[in-house]
Amino acid sequence: MADLTGSTALVTGGARGIGRAVVEAFAGAGASVMAADVLPRPADLPDGVGYTHLDVTSEDDWAAALAATEAAFGPVGVLVNNAGILEVGPIDQQPPKSFRHVLDVNLTGAWLGMHVLAPSLRAAGGGVVVNISSTAGLIGYPNLGAYTASKWGLRGLTKVAAMEFAADGIRVCSVHPGPIRTPMTADFDDDMTASQPIARFGEPAEVAAMVLFIAAEATYSTGSEFVVDGGALAGSPLTASLR
Ligand code: NAP
Repeated sequence: MADLTGSTALVTGGARGIGRAVVEAFAGAGASVMAADVLPRPADLPDGVGYTHLDVTSEDDWAAALAATEAAFGPVGVLVNNAGILEVGPIDQQPPKSFRHVLDVNLTGAWLGMHVLAPSLRAAGGGVVVNISSTAGLIGYPNLGAYTASKWGLRGLTKVAAMEFAADGIRVCSVHPGPIRTPMTADFDDDMTASQPIARFGEPAEVAAMVLFIAAEATYSTGSEFVVDGGALAGSPLTASLR
């Protein structure tokens, strides 16, 4: 069983959805966990889990969140850059402000996390960074130009970080979920998953299980991409009707 006893973890976007499931999985594996989010602290967080305000686009917020985490639990050994937003719009219609905002949260936010927390990860004696990208970091999706660009960027940044931090014993991996049932996808139609080999939305806990595996057990993986998508990227159903 995955064991994070003795580790301190900071999880962004930890109030709900996938981040919340990661918080619960890590706490269940014995980690000291700080959940960080722009939302108020949820009333039903597990006992012992810390909570701090963090807007991932703010360098000052990152410094404050790190200070709060270190004061409560010591140096951060596991960082999960999970906070993200989705804004829909075709290239010729999405306002530039919206495009920039998505990049700021989904990509710059994760870069800031690694930038600010690197000394803490080193002080922890090495560690793990898990960047939550998307299948949108592996293929393109129409009307999701900003989101897709941000998630491809995060996938590339993961590989650079894996090489830069390797000498410090810090692994950096990306996770690529397909459609997962969270508040972000609350309006998405169930039919969207009909052509997938596993024809349903995934659950946040199914992504959290992968994140826990990477953090606790994937000791020979860095710069690596872990897909949790119900087989959506296994291939195209183009020829399925041929006999
Ligand atoms: P979610 O339900 O919307 O939860 C995301 C959390 O992050 C929310 O609490 C959100 O607060 C918070 N957040 C937003 N902007 C933030 C900021 N600037 N600083 C800190 N926290 C912020 O989303 P989710 O579905 O769990 O997604 C989590 C991650 O998985 C995202 O990176 C997303 O792109 C990725 N992902 C999700 C899916 C999916 O199908 N759900 C698929 C692939 C990848 P607000 O309420 O204020 O927005």
